[in-house]
Amino acid sequence: MEKGLISVDRWSGESQAYFLTHLHSDHTNGLSSSWSKAPIFCSRLTAKLFPFKFPDFNLSLLRIVRIGSWHSVSLLSPSSGSKTVVQFMAIDAHHCPGAVMFLFRGDFGCLLYTGDFRWETTSDRAELGRNMLLNALNDSAVDILYLDNTYCNPLYDFPPREVAAQQVLDIIASHPDHDIIIGIDSLGKEDLLLHISRVLNIKIWVWPERLQTMHLLGYDEIFTTKTSLTRVRAVPRYSFSVETLDGLNTMRPTIGIMPSGLPWSVKPSEGNKNLFGSLLTARYSKSKWIGNGGVQTDEPNGSLDSPGRLHKHIYSVSYSDHSSFSEIEKFIKLVQPINMKGIVSSSCCYVDPMYYFGRLRGVNQPGQRLHQKHKRKERDEITLGTKSTFGRNFSTEVERKRGRSVKVKLLRVQSSRVSACRRVRSGAKIVDDDYTD
Ligand SMILES: [Zn+2]
Repeated sequence: MEKGLISVDRWSGESQAYFLTHLHSDHTNGLSSSWSKAPIFCSRLTAKLFPFKFPDFNLSLLRIVRIGSWHSVSLLSPSSGSKTVVQFMAIDAHHCPGAVMFLFRGDFGCLLYTGDFRWETTSDRAELGRNMLLNALNDSAVDILYLDNTYCNPLYDFPPREVAAQQVLDIIASHPDHDIIIGIDSLGKEDLLLHISRVLNIKIWVWPERLQTMHLLGYDEIFTTKTSLTRVRAVPRYSFSVETLDGLNTMRPTIGIMPSGLPWSVKPSEGNKNLFGSLLTARYSKSKWIGNGGVQTDEPNGSLDSPGRLHKHIYSVSYSDHSSFSEIEKFIKLVQPINMKGIVSSSCCYVDPMYYFGRLRGVNQPGQRLHQKHKRKERDEITLGTKSTFGRNFSTEVERKRGRSVKVKLLRVQSSRVSACRRVRSGAKIVDDDYTD
């Protein structure tokens, strides 16, 4: 695809159409209320939440994309000035309210951009999304899959959210006289809170801005800002810390529950005392939830007696809105992309999905490449190998039709370590440059 046509979750540079997968901050970095460059395509729910995150935004620039339907936009080729049509479809990403993947078709071939996504196979909603994707693909090949590689490592094997939600309920039930603090973001984990509310028949406290979001999402009765009405409080993730829990316990017995696919360490991360929890890497072994009724049994500090308990007041539960490693694998097997690229890129780590999943595309990758030094400079653009550049990016032949022999040359592995980096940026600008250091 030519440079200057479309961008997904990327707001720098110049494109003719912009696509927003969802409203988490790492996908809106660079977007502001004063945006005027071009229309933004997003789901209906994202459009509904948009003014709350971006007050005074010119809403006439939003284009609502109905999930499961093909749409098209006519753009102009920057090089020739001729018209080119891009078709696209939004598919439920099962991540947070409004989150979608985008499937693109055009002269450039077929591209699938997952955004952040959870690919569980255990729910009706997941089955619906799976069928929608398969019908949309209609046996045509995906030339490039842009993949949520947040947990692109076999260490990250965690249960479906319904199992993790039960773990949270079990922890709450085993502390009948405690107040409960649950760490969440400004969007996401609503289903978990709704489940807790429904099963325990209680309201859930949230902070005032979060209450507005809940009302926008249509949850009017379940959430409250009155602490006297409930013992379960959902608090901003940034305020969830050992210090906070210790302080609360001087007044009332309180436990904290952190729902996340990441294992959390007890110590605040260096340089940021508010950011409780960092990924345990070398000390953390694979989760054993399968063999223990869905409960993690790793005890990073080696001295605590309860499964998933990281501190006397804190529990970690693997409730994740991102796909686990095995779910990513299933997704890749289903989509069978000719090539793929991780969308989670940061200054400190990058795990190329080709390292673990290249074999599914007939590629064997030398083991030592996983821990290659991170050499890549911060780039403003994730440049994409497209149909027109396969010859340069991938020196071996690429067959576009599904079922035929497919050989691709490896993308570079850009990884310093399998590590504890929360993403700092993501997104893609569609350009035709080669992927180079
Ligand atoms: Zn997200």
